[in-house]
Formats: sequence, structure tokens, C-alpha cells
Amino acid sequence: MSTDCVFCGIRDKKIPADIVFEDDQMIAFKDITPQAPEHLLIIPKKHIRSFNDLSDDDAVMLGKTFVKIKDIARGLSISESGYRIVVNCNGDAGQEVFHLHVHLLGGRKFTWPPG
Ligand code: 5GP
Ligand code: ZN
Repeated sequence: MSTDCVFCGIRDKKIPADIVFEDDQMIAFKDITPQAPEHLLIIPKKHIRSFNDLSDDDAVMLGKTFVKIKDIARGLSISESGYRIVVNCNGDAGQEVFHLHVHLLGGRKFTWPPG
């Protein structure tokens, strides 16, 4: 829990967001600056600062989150065309919001290696 965390604010409905899925452990909402025709962020409701801060206790929650992302991608009709799942961790990866989140991007062709 962090009072100055924007994603905790979205979780607590204090900051507006276009939420597309929510359950007791996670929320998926549209990125405010989309980098693809479909760009969602999927966050655990628990405030976890970064991927580095995951603990063994988070394993089931994180597994369920990734399985749910597959269903969300199907709901966006990008399962067959393809999509990218990204987690940025710390400075070199460009992490800007320090509440763990998974980017789900689709609806266009991506390049590899990423920039
Ligand atoms: P990061 O670089 O930390 O992996 O990505 C943070 C993402 O959060 C960025 O893609 C950015 O556009 C998004 N973002 C930052 N602030 C907000 C916000 O207030 N609302 C929403 N929906 N997305 C945000
Ligand atoms: Zn948070």
C-alpha cells in the first residue's frame, strides 16, 4: 500500500481509469498513453514495487494474473494476430510507475529486439 502511488489510486477508484477487468487480486485497465491499438496494464491489487519485490507468497496470484491475461487478449480479439506481454523492471528497462504492472500490447506488428 502506498498513498502516493497512481496505480493504488486507480485500484481504490480515486483516480479514474478505463477498467476492462477486475477481480479480487488484479485489475486490467487501458494505458493512458497507448503504444499500440490495444494497450492494457494489468496490476496486482497488492502494492508490489517492482518485479524484484515479488515473494514466494505472490506466486499463485502472479500465475493467475498471467493466465487471465490470455483470456483478456482473447476478449480483445488479438489472440490469433498476436500480442506482446512486457514487464519493465527498474531504470534500464524504463520502469516509470513503481507498482508492478504487466503491459499487454496488440493490434499491430512489433519488432524484435525491442528498443
Ligand atoms: P512503465 O514504464 O512503468 O512500465 O509503464 C508505466 C505505464 O503507465 C506507461 O505506459 C504510462 O503510460 C502508464 N500510466 C502512467 N500513469 C497512468 C495513469 O494515471 N493512468 C493510466 N491508465 N496509465 C498510466
Ligand atoms: Zn501502488
